[in-house]
Amino acid sequence: MDSSPISRRATAFHDLKSFTVVRDFIWHSPYTERYTDPAILDFTFGNPHDMPMPEYVDALRDAITPQNKDWFAYKDYVPAAQEAAAASLERLLRMPFAPEDILLTTGGFAAIATALKTAADPGDEVIYSLPPWFLYEGLAAEAGLTPVRVMIDMETFDLDVDAIAAAITPRTRVVIVNTPNNPTGRIYPPETLQRLATVLEEASVRNGRRISLISDEPYNRIVFDGARFRSPAEFYPYTFIAYSYGKTHLAPGQRIGYIALPPTMPDREAVRAAVMQLQIVAGWAFPNAVMQYALPRLEQFTIDIDRLQRRRDRLVDALTESGYSVHRPEGTFYLWVRSPIGDDAAFARQLTEHDIFVLPGYMFETPGFFRICLTANDDMVERSLPGFAVAIKQAQTEKLTFIST
Ligand code: PMP
Repeated sequence: MDSSPISRRATAFHDLKSFTVVRDFIWHSPYTERYTDPAILDFTFGNPHDMPMPEYVDALRDAITPQNKDWFAYKDYVPAAQEAAAASLERLLRMPFAPEDILLTTGGFAAIATALKTAADPGDEVIYSLPPWFLYEGLAAEAGLTPVRVMIDMETFDLDVDAIAAAITPRTRVVIVNTPNNPTGRIYPPETLQRLATVLEEASVRNGRRISLISDEPYNRIVFDGARFRSPAEFYPYTFIAYSYGKTHLAPGQRIGYIALPPTMPDREAVRAAVMQLQIVAGWAFPNAVMQYALPRLEQFTIDIDRLQRRRDRLVDALTESGYSVHRPEGTFYLWVRSPIGDDAAFARQLTEHDIFVLPGYMFETPGFFRICLTANDDMVERSLPGFAVAIKQAQTEKLTFIST
C-alpha cells in the first residue's frame, strides 16, 4: 500500500529547482534566522518596508461598506472594476481595451497560471528567458507544460529574439515575456517586440498551430525617467497581458490583477469564456468582492515613483562609486548587479556579515549576479552603503591575495 496521502503531482514540486532554491533561501539560510530582525537591511523580496499609503487604506475601508444586499454575494468580474481597469490600460498603452476583455484574477500569479492553461495543453512547450521570475517553472509544471529556457543578451539585457526563434519547436505553444523585467529592470524596446512578433507569426504558420504570447507586465506602471512602456500586445495580437496591482501600490498581500485581451486578438468571446471557466475550476479564483469594488479608486494612484527613482539613483551612484558594475534600471523594483566574485552565493553570504541581505543570481538561474530590491526604505539604503563598500573591497582584496599566492 502507498501510505502517503500526497499525490505524485504535489510531490513533484518538491524537487523543482526553482522551488528548491527559494525554499532553501527562506527556510535554510542565514536569512531564515534573521528575516524578522529589525536590524537587518532586507533587499530580498518585493515587500513593503514602510506603512501602507493612507489612500489605499481609505479605498478599501470605503469598499467594504455594503451598498446593497448583494454586496458580498458570489462575484466573478465586477463591471465597474473592469471599466476602470480598461480605461486605465487604454491610457497607458494608447490602444483601446473593452471592459469585458479585462478578466480579473487574484494577482499576477493567477493571471499567468490561467493564461498558460488557456493557451496550452499538457505536453506543450513554453519558452521564457533567463534570468526569469522564480515561478515560471512551477506554474508551467502545474499546467503540465515543458519549460524551454533561453538567455537574454547579457550585454544589453535585451531579449535575444534569435535565441527564442531557435528554441521554437512544433510543440511550442506559449512564449512568456516579462517587461519591465524582473530582475534586470529593462523595458524591451519596440523594435525587439516587433521582431519577436514576426518570429511568432512565422513560426505559428510553419507549425500550423498558434503560438500565444503571455506578457507578464506587473511593473508596467513602475517606470523611471518618464520612459514610455510598450507592451508586446501592441505588436502581437495573440497576447495575454498578465497584470497585478501588487506592485503598483506595493501591497502584494491584497490579491488583485487581471488578464487583458487586446482588441486585435481574434475570437475574444471564446477566449473570455475559456479563461472564466478555468478560473471557476481553479476554485472560484476571482478576486474578492471588496478588492474589486476598491479598484476604480486604486486605479487613481500608484506608489511614489519619483521617490523610488531617487532611491534607485542613490544606490546605483553609490554602488558604482564603490566599484560595483550595476545597470541603471528603466523600471521595476530591482537592481541587477554583477557579483565582484564569480561565486554570487559566497558574495551574498559576505554581505550578510554587514547585515545586508540580497538575492544571489543562482536563484535566477544566472550565477555571477545578485539582485537588490528597491522596496527597502530610504533609511535602510543609507545604512547599507558602508557595508556594500566594505564588502566589495574585501572581495577584491581576497581575490588579489588568492591570485598572488
Ligand atoms: N511576475 C513577475 C515578474 C513578478 O516579479 C511578480 C511578483 N514578484 C509576479 C509576476 C507576481 O505578482 P503578484 O504576486 O502580485 O501576483
